Amino acid sequence: MMSHCLDINPEPTDLEQILSDCRETLKYCVKTGHPHFFNQLSTGIDVIGMAGTWLAASANTNMFTYEVAPVFTLMEEVIFTHMRNLIGWQDVDAIFVPGGALSNLYGVLLARHHAMPEVKRAGLSGDKRPVVFTSEQSHFSIKRAAAILGIGTDNVVFVRCLGNGKMDLQDLHEKLRASQQAGAVPIMINATCGTTVLGAFDPLPELADLCEQYGIWLHLDAAWGGGALLTRDYKYLFQGIERADSITWNPHKMMGVPLQCSAFLTKHKGLMKMCNGMGATYLFQTDKHYDVSYDTGDMSIQCGRHNDVLKLWLMWKAKGDLGFEEQISKNFQLAAYFRDKVKERAGFHLVLDKIEAPNVCFWYLPPSWRTRAIEKVKHAHLHEVAPLVKAKMMESGGLMVQYQPLGDLPNLFRVAVSNPSLTTRDLDYILEEIDHLGKEIPLPPDWDDETLRDNRH
Ligand SMILES: *Cc1c(COP(=O)(O)O)cnc(C)c1O
Repeated sequence: MMSHCLDINPEPTDLEQILSDCRETLKYCVKTGHPHFFNQLSTGIDVIGMAGTWLAASANTNMFTYEVAPVFTLMEEVIFTHMRNLIGWQDVDAIFVPGGALSNLYGVLLARHHAMPEVKRAGLSGDKRPVVFTSEQSHFSIKRAAAILGIGTDNVVFVRCLGNGKMDLQDLHEKLRASQQAGAVPIMINATCGTTVLGAFDPLPELADLCEQYGIWLHLDAAWGGGALLTRDYKYLFQGIERADSITWNPHKMMGVPLQCSAFLTKHKGLMKMCNGMGATYLFQTDKHYDVSYDTGDMSIQCGRHNDVLKLWLMWKAKGDLGFEEQISKNFQLAAYFRDKVKERAGFHLVLDKIEAPNVCFWYLPPSWRTRAIEKVKHAHLHEVAPLVKAKMMESGGLMVQYQPLGDLPNLFRVAVSNPSLTTRDLDYILEEIDHLGKEIPLPPDWDDETLRDNRH
């Protein structure tokens, strides 16, 4: 089928064919900038950001030293200082990282280095067992980071979430105590600011108190929620943020910067270099003719690094803080609009009434199913609806919305608003389209089977 046109041949291909390949490539791509694309948290296409991406590719600069990337290093400093001010820290060390999952890896790595600096040299010896605490609805990258760093996935303690998606503090208290009693060394709590599915914010002031009490690292995964720091109306969600030790913030999500653009920031100046520095003499000569503290490369776990700052800097310059505030506030307002529409409309049922980040999660009941209240629809049945609707959605190609199970909850749809070009009409369309796609889904054959147990209520 397609494979023969994707093959690389021994002979060169002429320019006309290459241009046609470009057109074909775009034709078969998912249109992530389209206002009916809701599948991920990164949506939309910002023209200035795209220009920044092209310019960065034209400059083709590696970010490891000031020597080779003087302008971009200074831009990074400006951007990170700006972010630091929004966070409310005195000091900052930060770098752009290939995605939020890796930013979270840095968070766990620094927490480990902070608690057990000897591990960098001697490796994990087994006489001290580091443990990481995170909520069961937090991003999977925390668990993977523990696997990568030799901490082990068994040493990630998943704290229960309340119905609203926030970490259950009582459960955390108990698990912290139990883990200490078992002789483990708690090294960090990961707090999520805007969970990937429900958009919930963990309670920062209480988590910061606990971290102080136990003397452990507080990492904030604000990969999704971070952009809200730019708004006066929604910044309250981050109350207590300045007490965090490190933060993941993805401008490629709520701020609409082209992929990829993820910042990792810590208030512990110098720690990243202590943790990751190898002092490679071929790159980081200490006797250069300039202030070598501008060489940021030795803070990284990479060698060379992509230029992710130019597109963000250009967008920020173009919009100003106020432009970003307006863009991001609109995401929240549109999400509230959509939440209200879901609530009103027959066949649609909100998972959460009170939303924090601009995420709206809901279940859908096809028309013939509505003789029964949703609470009475069996878990296993409801679980089937979203995949059936999604299959039709992908075949008709007019909409892309993500579904997923969440803990014990059956498959639910998540609409997250991050595309700046959205209007209320695009959100109305989601409901029309899902209702259209789902209208003929028949009743399941065992609809009336009383032996099917429901574990949801
Ligand atoms: C998206 C997301 C991540 C991962 O970010 P990537 O850039 O996709 O690696 C981590 N945490 C949260 C809460 C996220 O929403």
